[in-house]
Amino acid sequence: LLQLYAPLNFLGFVYREIKHSLADMEKMFTLLGQNTEVQDSPGAKALATSEAALHFDQVDFGYDRNRQILHGVSLAVPAGHTVAVVGTSGAGKSTLSRLLYRFYDVWEGRVSINGQDLRDLTQASLRAHIGIVPQDTVLFNDTIYYNIAYGKPGASREEVIEAAKAAHIYDFIQKLPDGFDTMVGERGLKLSGGEKQRVAIARTVLKNPPILIFDEATSALDSKTEKAIQAELKAISANRTTLIIAHRLSTIADADEIVVLDGGRVIERGDHRSLLEADGAYARLWALQQHDDESQPLPLLSAG
Ligand code: ADP
Ligand code: MG
Repeated sequence: LLQLYAPLNFLGFVYREIKHSLADMEKMFTLLGQNTEVQDSPGAKALATSEAALHFDQVDFGYDRNRQILHGVSLAVPAGHTVAVVGTSGAGKSTLSRLLYRFYDVWEGRVSINGQDLRDLTQASLRAHIGIVPQDTVLFNDTIYYNIAYGKPGASREEVIEAAKAAHIYDFIQKLPDGFDTMVGERGLKLSGGEKQRVAIARTVLKNPPILIFDEATSALDSKTEKAIQAELKAISANRTTLIIAHRLSTIADADEIVVLDGGRVIERGDHRSLLEADGAYARLWALQQHDDESQPLPLLSAG
């Protein structure tokens, strides 16, 4: 019996470890900085700025050499401004955010911050300047306090509380049986999509980065929760350089510029009004969404 028990117990251990690793992958990724694709170049400089202007210049990119995803994409986000990227699923929107975070390097062209090519910057300093509120927030198997405090190593308890308040999740936490010490994640309390997103917002508020990326940040939410979260995102994006990958067009109508991506190419750009006047792809998407039941996700701009 012992002979049988030992391997089964071992399998259980391996299974738990794998589940744990999946939830903690983001953490490991950040801690080890272990993207093998990308290395700091010799003499890489630390980025140090509170005002960041972003540029994608004629960017060609693909994950595999035989399949190009982005074709000559150019876009600029002036410091403190908000640019939205819209387009159908698979258009290459999230790829832009991965290039900005430098999980990968471009094939051709360049991505730069304040005129400095990302390849000339240290990865650690680059990533310290960027806050991402992703499509699906990964929670660590730890307390809700840890999950927020993670945004800023060495944060004080007051700072964590302030961030939770700014993300409108403080009252919710206060009502939990163990408050901030409540375990969340796979092996703890399961949070709803909206609650997870508020944790991600609290992390980002705490991190206080000059650059924000919202990647279809509200795609998993019902329209009431989405409206509430949009207001919070808007508040924290004020005066920050913000790239929004948009799901519902109503949420980005006041962006400084909207870029329409299709098949990895920019097919239209402009502000909401000029794009409606142009009566092209954006205007068609907009018209479709006006008929859309508010509570339904978009037919064309599906998450992904
Ligand atoms: P969007 O966010 O606009 O829905 P993505 O930027 O995520 O689109 O993906 C663009 C294309 O790149 C898709 O065809 C997708 O399948 C492909 N892709 C995304 N991530 C990877 C990856 N890690 N490896 C290979 N192909 C990928
Ligand atoms: Mg995406």
